[in-house]
Amino acid sequence: MGTSAFSRCFYFLGLESHLCWDPSEVPVIEQDHTFLCPYCGEDLSARLDPSGGRRQKFVQDCEVCCKPIQIEVHFAGDEVTFFSAEVGD
Ligand SMILES: [Zn+2]
Repeated sequence: MGTSAFSRCFYFLGLESHLCWDPSEVPVIEQDHTFLCPYCGEDLSARLDPSGGRRQKFVQDCEVCCKPIQIEVHFAGDEVTFFSAEVGD
């Protein structure tokens, strides 16, 4: 008996299946991507949010040398398909 989907549902006093947890509606969880600082070469991590757009550019200051790193990231769904970390302007 396929009870696994059913067991995720929460029924309260006759309220119906709209209370079911639908896996497709779970918010995408932010993910960390590790890269090397283009200035000092230290390992760093960027917090990526796939829900922010398929192509994103932002500046993140290096935690070690405090210089601005120009980051570009592309997503396909929640998969990172392109990542670059370069010297900022
Ligand atoms: Zn650095």
